[in-house]
Amino acid sequence: MNMPRFNFASPNPLDAWVAARTGLSEADFCHTQLQVYQIDRFVDTVTWAKLHSPYYRHALADVNAHALRSLEDVRRLPFTTAEDLCRNNPTLLCVSQNEISRIVTLDTSGTGGSPKRLYFTPEDQEATIDFFLHGMAVLTRPGDRVAILFPGERPGSVGGLLALALRRLGATPILLGWPHDSETAALQLKNSHVDIIAGAPIAVLALAKSTGAMQVRSVLLSSDHVAQSLRNSLEKIWGCEVFEHYGMTEMGLGGGVDCTAHTGYHMRENDLLIELLQPGSNEPTQPEELGEIVISTLTRRGMPLIRYRTGDLSRLRTETCPCGSPLMRLDYIHGRIGTPVNLGLGILNMAMLDEVLLADNGVIDFAATYRLTSSPHLHLDIASLNGEDELPLLKCRLLEIPVLAHAVDHGLQLSLSYVGRELIKHAGKRRIHVEMAP
Ligand SMILES: [Zn+2]
Repeated sequence: MNMPRFNFASPNPLDAWVAARTGLSEADFCHTQLQVYQIDRFVDTVTWAKLHSPYYRHALADVNAHALRSLEDVRRLPFTTAEDLCRNNPTLLCVSQNEISRIVTLDTSGTGGSPKRLYFTPEDQEATIDFFLHGMAVLTRPGDRVAILFPGERPGSVGGLLALALRRLGATPILLGWPHDSETAALQLKNSHVDIIAGAPIAVLALAKSTGAMQVRSVLLSSDHVAQSLRNSLEKIWGCEVFEHYGMTEMGLGGGVDCTAHTGYHMRENDLLIELLQPGSNEPTQPEELGEIVISTLTRRGMPLIRYRTGDLSRLRTETCPCGSPLMRLDYIHGRIGTPVNLGLGILNMAMLDEVLLADNGVIDFAATYRLTSSPHLHLDIASLNGEDELPLLKCRLLEIPVLAHAVDHGLQLSLSYVGRELIKHAGKRRIHVEMAP
């Protein structure tokens, strides 16, 4: 099946798609009308959740869904948190387990206790494929060969759904999976003669450093944060255009994708209601102010989420995008709440380490551990194509981060170990792991 064509003037394929899915004509396709659609679907979602999920029946007992008319009304509802997801499955489920076609278990080693589980019906997964198809259309043309570096072995995995979407678009997916061994994967990639590569930033960068110069038209990075140095390295090595996708399992894998103007993500507003709130509060941010992304699913049946706090920080871009899309646009993710480490003299986060270490032509990955003992210690395991000889040089570069240099001057121990030429297995999202004194 080829990509459905909508009769729409906008250069951004997401516009025509969201308009079609929300039932809006080109003339009516604007922010105000989208919001009317979203409130209607939000009312449907609350009604559905209260009827079928024991958790939401209790949590929303005082809420009259049909009295909800505006975003101000939405803000009176309680949040759903990551802890709620860990503690309340399967009571968050709205359908019986035999209507579920895919369960995703997320590592929550940082929080202790049970893992997060997300449940999807075939219809929920179809909505994801639909978004992937039209999101990829921003950078993919029929006939393109697209390498997929996401895991794709299991039915319903990210790689598997993306491959299905690409076939519908008329492109050829080449499922390479996670590049455990970057040099073998680099050889496979070279032999695949691809136009486009889609994957997690750290995996794509590792391959670029292994393949060296190669013809690639575009790259799609999917993550919650991409270091500027990583983008620059990819553009330099492959001469490609770098696009970014922002999504998480809780969003149904897909959330938003940037356009050729590269000024932030255009969001999947037909399936998601997005709020930006001042961190730790229920107050909306001012335009351009940094806030926490809170999502409500609008079309999901298996396990809808109402006002889910993602912990990701971004800001709303209010000026019109050069592509002209009226879709909500979020700036690139600025980080996560709770993940920066306070060195006592200032904040250090993974993004700051990424900027320095991934700019090196050999480093493909690293893991950071901050041990909070009587003498604090920051240790970095480094995976690099250049071997261990460059560790002293990397240490010098790290000390160009002012807060780190300052902390080392005041007694922080900083050590680096070389762990080989392969990507490191991270438990959950890449972040600085904090170990407390025993
Ligand atoms: Zn745009």
